[in-house]
Amino acid sequence: MQNVDYIIRADFLLTMEGDLSVIKDGAVAVTGSDIIDTGTFSDISKQYTSENLLSGKNKAVFPGLINTHTHAAMVYFRGLADDLPLMDWLQNHIWPAEGKWMSEEFVGDAVELACLEMLKAGVTTYTDMYFFQNAAGKKLEKIGMRGVLGAGVIDFPFTGYAASVEDYFTNAERHINNWKGSELVYPCIAPHATYTCGPDNYKRSNDISEKYNVPIHTHLAETQFEVGECQRRYGKTPVEYLEGMGLLSERLSAAHCVWLTDNEIELLARRKVGVAHCIESNLKLASGFAPVAKMLKAGIKIGLGTDGAASNNDLSILGEMSTAAKVHKAVSGDPTVLDSKTALLMATRYGAEILGLGDKIGSIKPGKRADLVIADLDQPHLLPIYDIYSHITYCMRPSDIETVMVNGKILVENGKPTTMDEAEIMDKARVWQEKIKS
Ligand SMILES: [Zn+2]
Repeated sequence: MQNVDYIIRADFLLTMEGDLSVIKDGAVAVTGSDIIDTGTFSDISKQYTSENLLSGKNKAVFPGLINTHTHAAMVYFRGLADDLPLMDWLQNHIWPAEGKWMSEEFVGDAVELACLEMLKAGVTTYTDMYFFQNAAGKKLEKIGMRGVLGAGVIDFPFTGYAASVEDYFTNAERHINNWKGSELVYPCIAPHATYTCGPDNYKRSNDISEKYNVPIHTHLAETQFEVGECQRRYGKTPVEYLEGMGLLSERLSAAHCVWLTDNEIELLARRKVGVAHCIESNLKLASGFAPVAKMLKAGIKIGLGTDGAASNNDLSILGEMSTAAKVHKAVSGDPTVLDSKTALLMATRYGAEILGLGDKIGSIKPGKRADLVIADLDQPHLLPIYDIYSHITYCMRPSDIETVMVNGKILVENGKPTTMDEAEIMDKARVWQEKIKS
């Protein structure tokens, strides 16, 4: 008998591996940061013992959810400007607010609120594009959550962060050197979009990504405005523009990808570009409907992203799963499109793969890190149970997430954070709210 740190038992264990079959009365053995074994509880309890037996009756265990595109610190702008088109929203509301308030302190405080919201909703990893990522990295280390933190790059200076364009690259390289090799914080470089980054900035970002072998993350083909603007400036669509500079590769994860031609879908598949699908942000900003069914058919790996809380307005991946699964049925006129298993794959294993973390997270498999969630099924809206995948995609709410483990450590226990002071974080948010409102 081998002694392990935890044995986690559940009525339904969804590993997201193999043929996706559910292990009934399953168990996971965890030691240190790693998953040691999975199987039926009866098999696991014959081989392992532990003082910590978690979960049990009326529970489901599945991999930690992965948010493949957000701007975490924007939680402080949640609800600040709603019901507007993207460019009006950005230029007249969000950029001025960021210009006025963004600082190391703002990002550090805001990221804590974002992590609190995400962890309590079962999100264990997020990909971010923003500034002052060192402040975010320090918070993630303290909390114990995982993040792919993209240092933002744009063509114009940003008061307090980059006095010149050169500073974005100095800051990005410093960020990469700071965090490369960290167990929880994965540095990344994030040129913002085709309408805010010229060829020089994209090429330099790509060179840095290649030099340090870190992911590159950008917004791509989000709106018709962007496509028109790119054609006007460069005579190319956004995808052609990036292809011309050699940006399209396995290292790239592109958020949105709403406006793509069939040829561009084939090209993204061939170049193994990962896509972060942000359905609720696209709906709210009326950006359009990404051709998700076609992209999946072409073999493109797609994860789910919330985008920033200012355009969503929450950071719930369970919400994205439900919305994506329903909207693409209506848009394609085919109710078999994006079924509940695919939705959970996008929220877990596919998400990990597009971030280059497929060998570490995204499924419950021996040798991977122990990032997993325990959901409470003893809820009126979750009974009766005929298909657990259907329930997770269509019925489950963030409040059903009971316990969350990241890297083998419990960060949320019975709905309460173990490494964060919830009351203090919410008080800080109210203080910032007053400042921003004034
Ligand atoms: Zn975004």
